[in-house]
Amino acid sequence: MDNIRDIVRKTLVNLDAQKILPTPKAYGNEFCKVAKSINFTVEECSRFENILKSLSDDEQIFVKENKITDFDDLITLLLQRAKKENIDNMATILQKSMKPSISLTLNEDLHQFSIKIGNSPELIFENEIQHEIEKFIDERIKLDQEELEKKAKEITLLMTYMTKFLGDTIDINSKGSDSISKIAKEIEGIDANDAHNLKAMQGKLVGAAKSIETHISQSTQSLQSGKESVVALQKKVEQLEKELQQVRKESEIDHLTGLLTRRWYDRQSKRFDDNFRRNGVNYAIAFFDIDHFKKVNDTYGHEAGDVVLSTFAKVLLKSTRDTDILGRYGGEEFISLVQFTNIKELYVYMERIKLIVTGHMFKYNDIKIPITFSAGVTIRSSNDSHEHSVKKADELLYKAKQSGRNKIIFEDGKEF
Ligand code: GH3
Ligand code: MG
Ligand code: MG
Repeated sequence: MDNIRDIVRKTLVNLDAQKILPTPKAYGNEFCKVAKSINFTVEECSRFENILKSLSDDEQIFVKENKITDFDDLITLLLQRAKKENIDNMATILQKSMKPSISLTLNEDLHQFSIKIGNSPELIFENEIQHEIEKFIDERIKLDQEELEKKAKEITLLMTYMTKFLGDTIDINSKGSDSISKIAKEIEGIDANDAHNLKAMQGKLVGAAKSIETHISQSTQSLQSGKESVVALQKKVEQLEKELQQVRKESEIDHLTGLLTRRWYDRQSKRFDDNFRRNGVNYAIAFFDIDHFKKVNDTYGHEAGDVVLSTFAKVLLKSTRDTDILGRYGGEEFISLVQFTNIKELYVYMERIKLIVTGHMFKYNDIKIPITFSAGVTIRSSNDSHEHSVKKADELLYKAKQSGRNKIIFEDGKEF
């Protein structure tokens, strides 16, 4: 107590000597200085120091360089920190920018890396991670460029064919029209009244008829070869169309499960959500995750795991209407968007899937593998946006996992 009184007294004397008014800030700073000089610990004074210790290295350097000594100035520094939601948005944008958009090559490394960032968006501030992001983006650009170059080459080839075909046709036609007009002029020049010229006229007419015949046969030949080129071109175009369709289909459908790929699901879900926002057609979002799936792989092998995934997808496909949406969200995670009019329909839908999955053993060769799953279900109309509904469904799924798995938790609290 006496110490404190001494410090107060000395603080005021010091301030007076420096001709500084004892405002709360000036008084506080001087007070702590005096306390420190006599090695007297005042908890409030060390609070500031303790907070400084929790700052990042860069921030500590900034504090030193700018002589930040109190909370007011420190708050200004802390306000410059990026907000959590901005970091999350940034991480999502980065994830998208790393995926090749034209080329379909998406390797497992990128997939895993994307999941890592999705789980901990703040990682994007780490140097090592930033280097990896750069590497993936470079790779993505390279893959997309290669794919574009390939398609560009095919199109150039088509154009060459076309140009040649048109050039040949025009060439023959213009020669034809020249010779036709020459023949016409010669015929015009013949005097039909001159009996002496009859012989010559006959000769010229025969010559003209021959020229026309030659011209027609040339045109027929060119038409024939033109037709062949057109057929060849058509075949080439059909082939290209088929290839493009295949490329599109492969990017829409996940080859293992036959469900929509994550990218295609994202697009389709936007259409679904538009229908909700424009026409009020409500829907539920169900997030499924197979329980202890890693153990299935570890115990029975990766191939058995694949069979379980495709069988699980078949159960979902059978239970879900064609007009609803089913996607493979990640490795053993699935999502469905289901329209409904009555919440009971939704309970029945989910319970049915659970009964089928838990009621039948999954089979790999002759081995029976017991499978359970957990799920979170939200209602679009109870949330601000599609993204919020998905996020909440994911949280409910997490809750289901935490409370022992093999469980479905609905947004209204209902559980199966
Ligand atoms: P939890 O109950 O908490 O969901 O545990 P879990 O083991 O199911 O989940 P975790 O995320 O630890 O493991 C998922 C595993 O799924 C890891 C990954 O190797 C495996 N996996 C992802 N995609 C595939 C695939 O296409 N085929 C196979 N066989 N396994 C896959
Ligand atoms: Mg999972
Ligand atoms: Mg799982």
